[in-house]
Amino acid sequence: MKPTPLESWIIERTRLETPSQEALKAYQLDRLKATLQYAQSRSRFYHERLKGIDWDTMDSFKAFETVAFTTPEDIRHNAYDFLCVPTHEIERIVTLNTSGTTGDEKRLFFTHEDLETTIDFFHYGMRCLVDENDKVMVLLPGPSFASIGDLLKKALQRSRIECIVHGILDDVEAAAACIFQNGITCIVGIPMQVAYLSRMKPELFDTHIKKVLLSTDYVADALVKSLSRNGTCQVFNHYGMTEMGYGGGVECDCLSGYHLRENDLYFEIVDPITGKVVEDGTYGEVVFTTLNRQAMPLIRYKTGDKARFLEEPCACGTFLRRMEKVRGRIENTLSLEGQEITLRDLDEIFLAYESVIDYRVACYDPKRLHVNLVLDKNSDTKAFQNTIEKHLRMRFQSKFDFEIEIEEDDRSSKITRSMIKRKIHDCRQGAKR
Ligand SMILES: [Zn+2]
Repeated sequence: MKPTPLESWIIERTRLETPSQEALKAYQLDRLKATLQYAQSRSRFYHERLKGIDWDTMDSFKAFETVAFTTPEDIRHNAYDFLCVPTHEIERIVTLNTSGTTGDEKRLFFTHEDLETTIDFFHYGMRCLVDENDKVMVLLPGPSFASIGDLLKKALQRSRIECIVHGILDDVEAAAACIFQNGITCIVGIPMQVAYLSRMKPELFDTHIKKVLLSTDYVADALVKSLSRNGTCQVFNHYGMTEMGYGGGVECDCLSGYHLRENDLYFEIVDPITGKVVEDGTYGEVVFTTLNRQAMPLIRYKTGDKARFLEEPCACGTFLRRMEKVRGRIENTLSLEGQEITLRDLDEIFLAYESVIDYRVACYDPKRLHVNLVLDKNSDTKAFQNTIEKHLRMRFQSKFDFEIEIEEDDRSSKITRSMIKRKIHDCRQGAKR
């Protein structure tokens, strides 16, 4: 088995003399120091935040671990204070609203060079799954300039791989026609949307689609299982967010955790309560620092995602680290009747049913969870009431002790079009919204 294509790319970009963890660590430490100095001397935010730093002792990862975290709230309140270049050097501004709440936007800035490093990562990252015999369809925002779709297309052009940026899925028939007409073999998209397409048009996955790359949200194992269609379709996971410059890591052929964009990003896993870096193998919050970002470097940025580093080397034989597939958002944990429940637990129960295409979960009172299921328009409501609902309730109660109310959502058969990350809505009195 060949090591992930990211390995030779990272060796080349970092000019490592020996391909080893130690050599890569030395490069990263060097870049961390350079980033701290760059950000402190150029951005108003980090000028203040890093004021007390003792530069003489900043020569180890341990010392770096004493640097304060940057949070999404910091960006929300002071986006322009993060800028390290004059505004005329900004080529792309992304306004993000991942919570869907008005006034909750984050702005992120990228120079031409910043976008170029992302295209470069996509170029080599996509080689983990496709080659010049493939044709790719992107079901992500695009094709406007510097959208994720546009950057992916530019990256694939460098490998002479045909790519159609279809945009977010809103018309299954149109997407299916596009796949047939163009002989698409690989889809890149949002997990719930790609799953919906496969449930509506299973024949596409029997005849055309051999590979899928899922991005932008936590991916339930139940979805991966259903998409893989008994192994005829390979389901790869990508980890990324706009703050990382879209791309963060991607699975190799072994499909057992991401290899990371370690030349541009330094990743840590920290205890979400104490903020201390945890041992490999232990779950915690993913924190990253950009190593080459020009417009808006981020230092120890808290992602809110739960994951862990895997201790065992990957079967592909690379020396690069491996992060287990993200297990969801840390905030998506609810405590009810003394038990903890996560969106992941719910996904594994509800999304295992092919007729469930989405669901919304909310908690209004201290003893009960309220679930609205969005069902496939072809599914029979009566059958739902008689069998599926009963099964779901049984599966749920075999795991949890509290009550659940299940209803069919009246938005029935409407697929989620939004990029907003799914969450548990805690509407109990006094709960943090
Ligand atoms: Zn690997």
